Amino acid sequence: MKLVVRVKLLPTPMQVAALEATLHACNESATWAAFVAFETKAQRPLQLRKHTYAEIRLRWGLGAQAAQHAIKKTCDAYTTLKANLRAGRYGRPGSRRHTRASGKPVVFRPDAAQPYDDRMLSWQHRSRTVSIWTTAGRLKNVAFTGQAEQLEVLAQHRRGESDLVCQGGKWFLIATCDIDETPPNTHPAGLLGVDLGIANIAVTSDGTRHCGRRINRKRNNDRTLRSKLQKKNTKSARRRAKKHAGKEARRARDINHKISKRIVAEAERTGRGIALEQLTGIRERARLRKPQRTTLHSWPFAQLGSFIAYKAKKAGVPIMYVDPAYTSQECSQCHHTARHNRPSQAVFSCRVCGFVDHADHNASHNIRHRGWMAWVCGAQSTAPELTLIA
Ligand SMILES: [Zn+2]
Repeated sequence: MKLVVRVKLLPTPMQVAALEATLHACNESATWAAFVAFETKAQRPLQLRKHTYAEIRLRWGLGAQAAQHAIKKTCDAYTTLKANLRAGRYGRPGSRRHTRASGKPVVFRPDAAQPYDDRMLSWQHRSRTVSIWTTAGRLKNVAFTGQAEQLEVLAQHRRGESDLVCQGGKWFLIATCDIDETPPNTHPAGLLGVDLGIANIAVTSDGTRHCGRRINRKRNNDRTLRSKLQKKNTKSARRRAKKHAGKEARRARDINHKISKRIVAEAERTGRGIALEQLTGIRERARLRKPQRTTLHSWPFAQLGSFIAYKAKKAGVPIMYVDPAYTSQECSQCHHTARHNRPSQAVFSCRVCGFVDHADHNASHNIRHRGWMAWVCGAQSTAPELTLIA
């Protein structure tokens, strides 16, 4: 299975200048190639190369590989655009959005990602440096860093191209890794039910609660700060809001990694699969008071779901996706379902059998039960095929 590992480069100021000049040259030439492709309708690599290759090398000083990658990037952008137009993501033909997207050439941002192959980029894992081609010649000993676990995956499984990107003034290499999957466990001893929610981000049917009150308090503070900055709406407030948003997203991502790792490890250790609610529609489904609504919208549940999915796939843990409708109102003991079973957000109390439990914990049992019913009925695990940023 394919995984993507992102490492941060630690270039010296001199190296930054060279990287910056290179990325700009690559994207400027790709934008120019996109213009040529638009005018001449030559949007296949071989055709477009005939029209642009020599000039790109001459005008922007790109090496043979870099020029080819810039041309291929342009062609890929048109292929994607065409696919999106066909799929109706820009509205109907003739609509304003459609015309705007199809009526002009593709433009690349100056710091858009540029692919690098093994001839332009080599990795020295032991010294944690890369040697990378730039328009100012080959840069050697550009240091990089990343999480220990990810660096190990990188050292052992990296294959093919990597992308050089600059995000918010920081430099990254995004490398594709091809890792071996554990063969899927076809006879799980049961399922671990996972309920995703507001009070706790995730609760398992074993009773483990992931991130409750403490993180919620932080999320509330984040929200207050965000609305304060929005109200102020000065230039510096906007800058601060943007910086803060990036920080929030990184923290959420980190937490999602930790939660998903623990859930999958627990399922793997006990020889079980995972039952997870289908995530589509989580926002439409949950009807909440307003302040909670913002908290729900601000948590990336889809990301958490995808992290669980790829970690499970890697470990051979099967996943069953279940329809979560009424799992919060259903009694996990007698299956009586009623809204009155929920006297409050946190408590479940069955009106028929008197069973009382933490609401999310009760729901996770229902999810586990539904998943298991589907599993024993012979349904296949419906884990999506995906590539994800690790
Ligand atoms: Zn009951």
